[in-house]
Amino acid sequence: MQNVGVIGAGLMGVGIAQVSAAAGYHVFLADIDVARAERGKLSIANGLGRLVEKQKMDQQQAEQLLGRIEPVADFAPMVNAGLVIEAATEREDLKRGIFEALGKVMGVEAVLASNTSSIPITRLAQASHNPERFIGVHFFNPVPLMGLIEVIRGLATSDETVKKIETYAAALGKQVVHANDAPGFIVNRVLMPLLNEAIFALGEGVANVRDIDTAVKLGLNHPMGPLTLADFVGLDTCLEVLRVLYNGTGDPKFRPAPLLVKYVDAGWYGRKTGKGFYDYSGDEPVPTR
Ligand code: NAD
Repeated sequence: MQNVGVIGAGLMGVGIAQVSAAAGYHVFLADIDVARAERGKLSIANGLGRLVEKQKMDQQQAEQLLGRIEPVADFAPMVNAGLVIEAATEREDLKRGIFEALGKVMGVEAVLASNTSSIPITRLAQASHNPERFIGVHFFNPVPLMGLIEVIRGLATSDETVKKIETYAAALGKQVVHANDAPGFIVNRVLMPLLNEAIFALGEGVANVRDIDTAVKLGLNHPMGPLTLADFVGLDTCLEVLRVLYNGTGDPKFRPAPLLVKYVDAGWYGRKTGKGFYDYSGDEPVPTR
């Protein structure tokens, strides 16, 4: 397989395009229109430019990598891709529309993979042209730095499809873990209750923001505190994933903390809005509680 298609040139799509091109694949990068795909490529070029400045990559390497990323206006060129990875907005109707359009152009041998964080793979597979050749590949943000891919089999996913993804992941230098198609897969299933519990503790007045973060950071040897991490992930995203876990399992242990709901209602989504459990308007983040 020499060509990879990436649908969605947002945060995750450009990361996936970059690491695929770095591994030597030719990448067709698509979005709603070619201008957005071009913008995605530009953001990769800017990131690589910074690496060249810091002498972490040489100019020629950066140019070669960029030369392998081809923004495309529609899905037609994906006919030449052995693997197409969908990393578009997390909305099921939208993803279904993409799979329908892809089904008309993709080769019969090609694998279609979704980077969805929360939509069941088996259900998405039903909307694809061939559920045996459909699979979940869950990358982590920022893609070039994070070494893990969760691979999720749908009920019909074939062994051959899993092998293709393992070969692709190995070429990228990423570690694969296999998860069954269950809400939150592995990482979010384990992470979200931790973040949610920290927010419950804050809401119940157990401790303030700084002390909860310091306790987990130094007491459990985590690289960052749970409230800092929740702000980084985005509180709206945390709430959405908790609801998926709660609705998907029916287990009350996943019920979102009322304080999390309140922050999201207030539009305090964390770093991306400048305010969450910390206020990011100054030089240093300041706790909001
Ligand atoms: P994003 O909003 O940054 O990017 C989504 C892109 O999809 C946008 O550029 C948008 O224009 C494009 N898009 C929308 N409709 C399209 C269509 N019909 N055809 C082609 N492109 C279309 O979102 P993101 O954070 O990159 O998330 C993308 C996917 O990755 C989602 O499924 C999300 O759940 C998943 N994911 C996100 C993260 C994360 O940390 N952000 C981590 C793992 C997985």
